[in-house]
Amino acid sequence: MPKMFCKKCGAQNEDNATACASCNEKLDQTVVMATAAEAAPKPQSQPQIQSHMVFAIIITLVCCIPFGIPAIVYAAQVSGKVAAGNIEGALESSRKAKMWCWIGFWSGLAFTIICMVKGVPFLQAIPQY
Ligand SMILES: [Zn+2]
Repeated sequence: MPKMFCKKCGAQNEDNATACASCNEKLDQTVVMATAAEAAPKPQSQPQIQSHMVFAIIITLVCCIPFGIPAIVYAAQVSGKVAAGNIEGALESSRKAKMWCWIGFWSGLAFTIICMVKGVPFLQAIPQY
């Protein structure tokens, strides 16, 4: 529950208090209610579509470049399509960006696990002659 703060002395009071416990100033409930409503997040008129760009860049840098590149390409399309009013297309690009991110993520993870399980000999097993 939100607490009442006295406008006069700043003391914290119970939210159902009508007068300040510290200085006995009359507490105005309506002022607090209005402030709380103003602080509430306003609904966005434009739909927020995740581009997954940060995820795509991390995948490209850390894991698999072949899977990270399409993820970045699709992620880059999202904001452009939203700006053009193509919400359906933006959602589609967002979905594909996310898909390629996860493909890259699991591929990178699988490769890491194989390397850990097999150890360095796995890399040395590649014919060198
Ligand atoms: Zn007070």
